[in-house]
Amino acid sequence: MPSAPGTLSLPPIPFYPYPVPVLDTFGRPLRTLRVSVTDRCNLRCHYCMPEEEYAWLPREDLLRFEEVATLADISASLGVDRVRLTGGEPLLRRDLTQLIAMLANRPWMTDLSMTTNGVLLADAATDLRGAGLHRLTVSLDTLRADRFRKLTRLDALPQVLAGISAARRAGFERLKLDTVLSRGDNDDELFDLLDFARAEDAEIRFIEYMDVGGATQWRADSVVSRAEMLTRIADHYGGVESMTEPGSSAPAERFRLPHGQIFGIIASTTQPFCSTCDRARLTADGVLLLCLYAQHGLDLRRPLRAGASIETLRKMIDAVWQGRADRGAEERQGLRDRGVYIPITALKKDAHLEMHTRGG
Ligand code: SAM
Repeated sequence: MPSAPGTLSLPPIPFYPYPVPVLDTFGRPLRTLRVSVTDRCNLRCHYCMPEEEYAWLPREDLLRFEEVATLADISASLGVDRVRLTGGEPLLRRDLTQLIAMLANRPWMTDLSMTTNGVLLADAATDLRGAGLHRLTVSLDTLRADRFRKLTRLDALPQVLAGISAARRAGFERLKLDTVLSRGDNDDELFDLLDFARAEDAEIRFIEYMDVGGATQWRADSVVSRAEMLTRIADHYGGVESMTEPGSSAPAERFRLPHGQIFGIIASTTQPFCSTCDRARLTADGVLLLCLYAQHGLDLRRPLRAGASIETLRKMIDAVWQGRADRGAEERQGLRDRGVYIPITALKKDAHLEMHTRGG
């Protein structure tokens, strides 16, 4: 996808070494920024984009790379030191390596990562590495080609597997694989996926199916819970040892199998981790969201393009984070009758409610 035309000249942001992160109403620091670089995707995963038609963000609204870097710098002055690029499918954004090179050079950056579906990765891996990307996560829900087509509506499993190999050859270490398990769709591949990850020397994380915006087919009984996964894995491999460090803000809990393999579980649905969530999300058109379940965000594109000063933008982000009381996954968990979170009619009226717009 082409980046929006035009150039911007913005004043340099003062770099605050090791700023004290701003805290929200629960004392949670702002540390991580997830940047969606495009709302477009080349897959139609059943848990994310199951509909036939979508309304896309206007191209001219997409943040230019300079704008993303500016907002990242401002966030860094408030505590952010980790950025994850996501989407949509980030590899659909044209010239993405330019953004990666800009961000990787930031003095405050300790971890620059990207989540991709891997379809376009084989040709991109070397350039991503060369541009300075630190880490890669590839989403992979099945190892069966026919099932891949059914679950994503694209016949592209070989490309994804080639992408994973290419990432390894390009020098990406600590490669991660993310799998959304859903009952009756791919939960029979739990052990095959674990064995595949071991053979690839990658760390696989199983994500509980979430009722985020866009998951219009979500049902409680489709969720394979953390507890069920652990029981099945322990029965099959002969035990599971917890490795999670207390106080970690990482979404995944990590476990070790008797043969030494490490895997993760992201139990967003049955054991949400809102209390340690240090993540803000920036949509491709510059809306800052404080929670994956947030229904509203802070539009930063308009003031940025209207010439707001860095200090004004900084104060805006500071104020919304200080007022942050979001704990969306925990609130959803507390509901007795839990169904689809955002109905299709509401999604059609506001693309910002979609998971593929806000980034996973
Ligand atoms: N296109 C990229 C990809 O597929 O990795 C990045 C965007 S995708 C929205 C990011 C992550 O969100 C993926 O790992 C995807 O599996 C996850 N995701 C999307 N919808 C989900 C849902 N309803 N429940 C759990 N995870 C979901």
